[in-house]
Formats: sequence, structure tokens, C-alpha cells
Amino acid sequence: MKEKAQQTLRSLPSVEELLQSPNLIPLFERHPRELVAGAVREAVAAARERVLHGSHPETWDRLVQPAQLVALAISLVESWTRHHLRRVLNASGVVVHTNLGRSILPQAAVERVVEAACRYSNLEYDLESGARGSRHAHVEGLLCRLTGAEAAMVVNNNAAAVLLMLAGLATGREVIVSRGQLVEIGGSFRIPDILRLSGAQLVEVGTTNKTRLADYEAAVTSETGLLLRVHTSNFKVMGFAEETSIEELVGLARNWDLRVADDLGSGALAELPAFRGEPTVGASLKAGADVVSFSGDKLLGGPQAGILLGSEETIALLKKHPLARAVRVDKMTLAALEGTLHLYRDPEAARAAIPTLRYLDRRAGETEALATALLQQLERALERDGLRATLGVEGTAAKAGGGSLPLLELPSHAVTVRPEIGSIVALEGALREAPLPVVGRVAQDTLYLDVLTLETEELPLVAESVTWALERLACVPACDT
Ligand SMILES: *Cc1c(COP(=O)(O)O)cnc(C)c1O
Repeated sequence: MKEKAQQTLRSLPSVEELLQSPNLIPLFERHPRELVAGAVREAVAAARERVLHGSHPETWDRLVQPAQLVALAISLVESWTRHHLRRVLNASGVVVHTNLGRSILPQAAVERVVEAACRYSNLEYDLESGARGSRHAHVEGLLCRLTGAEAAMVVNNNAAAVLLMLAGLATGREVIVSRGQLVEIGGSFRIPDILRLSGAQLVEVGTTNKTRLADYEAAVTSETGLLLRVHTSNFKVMGFAEETSIEELVGLARNWDLRVADDLGSGALAELPAFRGEPTVGASLKAGADVVSFSGDKLLGGPQAGILLGSEETIALLKKHPLARAVRVDKMTLAALEGTLHLYRDPEAARAAIPTLRYLDRRAGETEALATALLQQLERALERDGLRATLGVEGTAAKAGGGSLPLLELPSHAVTVRPEIGSIVALEGALREAPLPVVGRVAQDTLYLDVLTLETEELPLVAESVTWALERLACVPACDT
């Protein structure tokens, strides 16, 4: 065994030798020589490592062949130089898919981002006075006009907005929260943890399913600084359940000279049938909440951001807080948000131009037509390439996602795929490895490609990726030998 290892290592070609390979010539045209040489060195080192560790001696002879090493080096160069953050096609049936980037931006917002990114701007420069300006000014007026708020500011995301509300309004004081609202939002963002981090003291009241005004009243002391309501975005307590309204909390707060903060989570500004029953930003402000916060990239359909709206006095406190600098929003986000918010001045335009709203508002007739078109394109592509699979179109119940509207079922349609060769899990995996990956959903041994979040011009791309994946499945046994 040791002898075979020594013998194999002696036959390992040198890096210099391998660099002469004609197969590497195209790489030298596109990449620095040092990068290619690095990949060759790494390929040789990997082969040496395998032999030294004595694993699978029967593969060694093949491992040290120059062609094999060069192929490995080429795939290393490809993986090093490919962008890691890449486009995928969302066929998951989830509109605001946090893992797929939540909302995609309307074109008008993208144009604002490009300009902000590649030109100097008045980000913090007051063009009227020539003095230093505030980055909040770019969206504050618009946000106030759209929602009726007195003042507004924007931070990096809603998690940061909640932290800033708590730190700015309740550090060293008690914050009263309903037990039914001590939620985990995801990614280990838990309200009790954020409260502790802010230096405020959590006072839980009520029960998981019912919290009444009297529960809050009984808990107010001279140490109380804030009443916090948290929208239980990603779940619902059904049946024997009761929450205290924001009006009631405001009434209590006025009697005791306290503030009310409302973490709305998604904070929809548009009026879609899908949003019926959701607490709205305007309603919360009208009821008298001192400050409300919500995400920019959930049901608003804009960039990742945390939007804070409220009274002049409360927002001024938050703007001055040292933490505000740490959670500051960047200029590209502001540009995207302003571009998105401008569309909201005309609700009709907003529904048509903001992809998240358009997808949430799609009719079953439209998704059926899209799914039928995708089915036909896929059938043609499979026939062209001599591939086979069982295809169909089915109605689906798609989701809003992003921890919003957990019970809502959006009527949509999907193309169903069952491969003739290989498992459904293998097909799903191959689709993720495609040059343009597709994220679908597997259920009942079927791959569902939901069209709710696909554009007509994306359908041929989905068809090509599925064809690529089926081809891959068909050739796996051959490719492994
Ligand atoms: C989503 C959500 C957050 C976190 O918002 P991000 O924008 O993801 O930081 C906080 N609170 C609630 C209620 C949410 O739904």
C-alpha cells in the first residue's frame, strides 16, 4: 500500500508540465496566469493529499493522469471566477421568499439605484443651503404624505428599526409586551432577545392566546417606558384568542405618559384583496401610535430597509440616538426606496409596476395561461433534445412568504414534472446546479414549478434549465464511469 502510494506520487506530473496543456489555453485568454497556475497547483496538491491519506487506491492511477488534473484545475478556475451571488428563477410559489432575496425591485427603482451607485449625489448635502443635509430627507416627505405620519426615518432593516425603537425609547425602563407577541421572526431574531440587547426590561403580560387591556393596566408602574405591540407576522393563533387593539394601548399610554411602539412587520401600504384584515401603517398611526416600524422588502415590495414613522418628537429622538449611526441605511437602498415609494402616489401604477404587488394580485386565469405556455415550451424543448418526462399543469395554493399573511393561499398554477430517469430529489438537485438555477417545490414525488412569480420572458429560461437538469439525470450513470 505504502509502496503503491510512493509509486503513484512519483508519477504525479509537475505543475510546469501541466501548465503546457492545450486545454488551458482558453483560460489564459480570460484569466491572469497566476490564477490558472494556482488552480493547477491546488489540483496537484488535492491529488497528492488523497494518495497520502490512502483513500480509494483503485482510483489513484486515474487521479494522477494529466488530463484529469487539468480538468480539475479548469473546474476550480470556473468556481473561483463565477459570481457567487447569482440570479435564480423563483418557481417556488412563494412571492416574498427571504432566501431568494424577498422582493425584486420595480424598474423605476432600479434606475434610481444605478444613478445613485455610479454618480455623486446630494446624499447628505442640502442643495438649497449648501450645508450638510440629512439622508432621511430624501424619503421623509414622501413617506409622510403616503401614510399621514408627522415624521419618518429609514434604517438598514426592520430588525434594526425595532432595536432602535427599544434602545431609543426604553433603555433602563420596562417594556410591556403581550405573551402572545413574544415571537421569533426567523434567523434567530426573537423579541425577548432584542429587548434584552436594547437594555430594556421585558414585562410579559396576558397569555399566549388572550391579552386584555386590563393585563397591560395591571403591569404599568413608574418604571414603565413603553408599550410594545408586535405583529405576529408568521403565525396565527386561531379560535379562543384576543389581542388588545392599538387604540386601547394608546388610551392607556396617554393616561400614564407612556409611548406606544408598533412593530408591524410587513407594513403593507397598498390595498390589495390579499391584504384584507392586515393591520395597516395608516391605521396604526391614526390610532395614535408614537412610532411604527416595518420592512421595506416584504409587502411594500422595495429594497431591504427598516422604515420608522411616527410623531415629530419620537422620530427626532431616534434620529439623534447613537445607534442610528450604526444601523444607517445606504444610498443605494435610499434610491431604491424613493423610486418604489414614488410609484405608490398612484395606487394603480403601484400594483402594475411593483413586482411583489403584481404577483400577489395575479388572477388564476393569468397563472393558468402562464403554466400552459411553460408546459408547451418544456414539451418542445424535451422533444428537441430527445428527453422524456411526465408533464402536466396543476392548480396550486401559493404563499405570500416573508413571514407575512401565513394563512393566505394565493390561487396559482404550476407545471408538474416527473422524470423517467432518476429520482425527483436528483432532478431538484440538478435544477439547483443548472447554469441558471431554478428553485421549485417537491411534493408527492412530483416537482412543482409554480409560475406565480415568473415573467413571460422567463418561461423559456425555465424550460432550458429543466431540460439541462433532465439531460444531466439521463447522463449521470454514464458520466460516473
Ligand atoms: C420581518 C419582521 C421583522 C424583521 O424585519 P427585517 O426587515 O427582516 O429585519 C421584525 N418584526 C416583524 C414583526 C417582522 O415580521
